[in-house]
Amino acid sequence: MSKQQKPVGCLAASNNVMAAPGNPVVRPGLSRGNSDSGVPQVAVQHVIAPPSTPPGTSTRAHEGPLTELRAGQTAKVFKVHTETLKDRCPYFQPLLTNTPRPSADLLTFPDLDEFAFGLFTRWLYGSMLAGPSDFHSMQHYLCLYVLATRFAIERLKNEVMDLVRAYYRTSNMTAPAYRLEYVYSHTAGGNVMRQFLVTTAAYRFLIEKEPGQREPRLSDAMRGVIAKGGELAVGFVEACATLHTNGLEDVRRGPDCRFHEHVETKRCKVVPSEAYQG
Ligand SMILES: [Zn+2]
Repeated sequence: MSKQQKPVGCLAASNNVMAAPGNPVVRPGLSRGNSDSGVPQVAVQHVIAPPSTPPGTSTRAHEGPLTELRAGQTAKVFKVHTETLKDRCPYFQPLLTNTPRPSADLLTFPDLDEFAFGLFTRWLYGSMLAGPSDFHSMQHYLCLYVLATRFAIERLKNEVMDLVRAYYRTSNMTAPAYRLEYVYSHTAGGNVMRQFLVTTAAYRFLIEKEPGQREPRLSDAMRGVIAKGGELAVGFVEACATLHTNGLEDVRRGPDCRFHEHVETKRCKVVPSEAYQG
C-alpha cells in the first residue's frame, strides 16, 4: 500500500467537462492552438476491443464468488469475480483476503468516475483499451490513470500512459491548463503522468508564438494556474529548463518505457527503432 496515493476525486474534474442533464455543456476556458481542450464536443463513447487475455491474466481466476463494487455519484454497481480482483489489484488483494465479507462502504467509490470504472472492470477481464479519441474520453482515461494509481495497478498505469502519449502524439496535442490542474490535484510526488503532461505544456509554450511575437507568451489559462504556485508551477519551470538543456525534445515521441514504472512489472525490452519511427 506504500505506493497508494491520496484518494482520488475524478468526479470533480469531470464536472468541468460534462453537462448536467438539461444544461448546456460547460467547457473549460480554451487555451490557444492545439491543446486537447479545443476538439469538438461529441457524445461520450467508449470503444473497447473484443476481450483478449493479456500476459499475466489467469483465465482460471474468472470464476467463483462475485464482489460488488459501486462507483460514481449514482453508486453504479459493477460485479467482479473476487479472485480476479485479488489477482490483478494489489489494493483489493489484502482487503478481500483479510476481510472476506467487507462492508459495502469499503467497496463503494463515489469519487471515481463510473466511465473510468467501466473501463477498469473491462480491462480486468482482458479487454484491450482503445485509448482516448476526443476531449471527453481523454478525461476518462486520465481518471482511469488516477484509479490505477489508487488501486496500485502498475500494469494498467503503464498501459494508460502509452495510450495518452499516443493520442497526444498522433493528434499533435499538448496538455491545457485544466488537465494539468486535474492530474496535479489527484496524484502526488514524482508522478510520470504529471511529468509528461507538464512537459508537453512547456514544450508548446516554448515553440508556439503568435504572429509578430518575438518571445514565448503564456496563455491566460496557463498564467492562471502557474500564478497559484505549488507543485504544478515548480514542475512547469523545471520542464522549461529541461527542454532548454535538451534542445526541445518532444516527450510525445520516443520509447514508451521512458514513462513507465517497473517496480512490480518486468522492464520492457529495448527495441531499436528506425529513424522514421517517432
Ligand atoms: Zn516499460
